[in-house]
Amino acid sequence: MSKYSLRERIIRFTFMNNFLITPIEYLKGVGPQKAELLKKEIGVYSFKDLLDYYPFRYVDRSQFHKVKDLLEIHGHVQIKGKIVGMIEAGVGRSKRLTAKFQDDSGMIDLVWFKGAQWIKKSIKVNEEIVIYGKPTQYGGKWNIPHPEMSSVAAATGSGFQPVYSSTERLSSAGMSTKGIEKLVGHLLEQLSGQVEELLPDEVRNEHRLIGREEAIRWAHVPSSEIHAQQARMRLKFEELFFLQLELLVRKKITMQKSKGFELTNVGDAFNTFYDKHIPFELTNAQKKVLKEIRRDLNSGHHMNRLLQGDVGSGKTLVALLSMLLAIGNDYQAALIAPTEILAIQHFESISEMLKPLNINVALLTGSTKKKARVPLHEDLKSGEIKILIGTHALLEDTVVFNNLGLVVIDEQHRFGVAQRARMWKKNTLPPHILIMTATPIPRTLAMTFYGDLDVSVIDELPPGRKPISTMHKYDSSRLRMFGFMKEEIAKGRQIYIVYPLILESETLDFNNLMDGYEAITRAFPMPDYQVSMVHGKLKPEVKEFEMNRFVKGETQIMVATTVIEVGVNVPNASVMIIESAERFGLSQLHQLRGRVGRGAEQSYCILMTGDKLSSDSEKRMKTMVRTNDGFEIAEVDLQLRGPGDLLGTQQSGVLDLKIANLSKDGQIVAMTRDVAKKILKKDPTIELPENKGIRSKLSELLKDRPNWGRIA
Ligand code: ADP
Ligand code: MG
Repeated sequence: MSKYSLRERIIRFTFMNNFLITPIEYLKGVGPQKAELLKKEIGVYSFKDLLDYYPFRYVDRSQFHKVKDLLEIHGHVQIKGKIVGMIEAGVGRSKRLTAKFQDDSGMIDLVWFKGAQWIKKSIKVNEEIVIYGKPTQYGGKWNIPHPEMSSVAAATGSGFQPVYSSTERLSSAGMSTKGIEKLVGHLLEQLSGQVEELLPDEVRNEHRLIGREEAIRWAHVPSSEIHAQQARMRLKFEELFFLQLELLVRKKITMQKSKGFELTNVGDAFNTFYDKHIPFELTNAQKKVLKEIRRDLNSGHHMNRLLQGDVGSGKTLVALLSMLLAIGNDYQAALIAPTEILAIQHFESISEMLKPLNINVALLTGSTKKKARVPLHEDLKSGEIKILIGTHALLEDTVVFNNLGLVVIDEQHRFGVAQRARMWKKNTLPPHILIMTATPIPRTLAMTFYGDLDVSVIDELPPGRKPISTMHKYDSSRLRMFGFMKEEIAKGRQIYIVYPLILESETLDFNNLMDGYEAITRAFPMPDYQVSMVHGKLKPEVKEFEMNRFVKGETQIMVATTVIEVGVNVPNASVMIIESAERFGLSQLHQLRGRVGRGAEQSYCILMTGDKLSSDSEKRMKTMVRTNDGFEIAEVDLQLRGPGDLLGTQQSGVLDLKIANLSKDGQIVAMTRDVAKKILKKDPTIELPENKGIRSKLSELLKDRPNWGRIA
């Protein structure tokens, strides 16, 4: 007799060419109802999907802990014991179910904040069970929130067990972690010979990766921790490798398609400015980036470059020099800023710098009057205006250029593809695009998300900057802080005080801001002190007026919400106080801090928080105090928030990774990127016999680009 049932033989025959795409309902133990749930709840449609549904953790079930020892153990514990009673307490959000759990050494509470009804039903009092969870302290008492519970028999089944995430509905249909494990088991029984190896031997040997089939098995049912690690490493490598390879190939396709203006001249404008009118030496980082941009402009391809550089690293100058390159080739250039204030600042500083060169620079924002627009539009169309600086008003269809060659977009790493596309329509070929941002994105993320952009980094500040000194203070030391502020003002400096304003708690935040403003005006009374205030509810004219008073030095203190976040330059402002700093994200804190430290004076950033901080907030404050390095901060931010939050949801499709984790596996990302590049270099069309596996997978990934193989 065959080792397979008739049913299994039929399935194998039907899906002979690709066993893995067999619909999940054909798996032993599944059937139509369970299949429906698997699809709905966890997106498992086929055998392959189930194999890709990896355990999120493994448990060493050979070890049991004792309640009395829990305080010395960090992390998860497994205890054998019984529940001796339950109570429900609290109302609304703080409603919870508490169970008293006892072993032969002591007692601890198990707590559920959700799903109490369901848990209550499934708990059997006074029956020996095994619980698994992570003890935490709450209100001075230890408990284990949301523990997993299983029967003693199930828990002691094997030494090293996978844990799958399940849902309430799956669990009640018999597919809790145990049930899923069983289904996977059925699948693994039939797996032999069904898994194609995708990676060439050479790569596997070099990186000590186990075979694909073995990896899939061991990832689900490892016999030891080492096996689990080897399996996961292999699968993460594979996943990230194909992601990188796909991105590289896609970029190549785009490059081939996108013809761009060829700017071969350096030109008089650039040369004169560079030789005679830059008051300082460019940093090496600025020079390096400029070279990269120059190479792009020269290449005949359309440039799409992201320039990352910490606040104050001198991106504007790079932008200006790039625009001069465009002008030297008889093209126009545009610079788009996210706010009117910033656009005006750019306009003023750039006009000033270009004065000796006699280059026509114009400003266009939402509040440019119609009367001024008419001649501006004309001069733009005739080519009289060489550089146009402004806000998104530049994107409007009525704004027509004579010959737009380069667009620089400042402070906006989320400038979307759609917006870029609008710029493309402004000339016969798309103008070159340079996007600048001071929000650093960790290198590994940038590699992955800006597949269609080239990334340049200014990783060096101009010389002579005094690092900003950052302190973390509690509300209790507010009076001392006022004293410090007075000293700084007496030295002629200016101060920002920033309050959070978040939409969902707007009224409360707004009241805090007003209270804060009042307290400040009381402690810093007129006429000795002048205080400005700017927030989102003010009319634009008022905002502008107040901001300008501060810029001109007429007021010493600027109380504001985060509207001042981006770009504004007030070199005399040397103190940044951030109220309720625990409510800001790391990158936002870093951005805000970047508003000071622009002049020659020692600058300070003071983070004010309440006394009780969560461990994440604590870590954010510590990181800010420890370092001024935006990239280091971005790495911590990535650890704390995960890539989804960091990049916004629009890109989260790319985050659909089965086993790798972009915040933790950065090293593998970098490694696989190198491997992918090496392979493409040696075998640009992926045709060598050893790359057969790669080719088949890549064809699947690039289904929408059937001709990808012709891109040599
Ligand atoms: P950001 O990168 O934040 O946009 P900016 O371009 O506004 O920074 O530059 C910050 C300040 O540093 C400006 O006042 C600028 O003139 C100055 N700066 C730029 N490059 C250099 C340099 N190579 N040496 C000295 N100062 C520089
Ligand atoms: Mg800037």
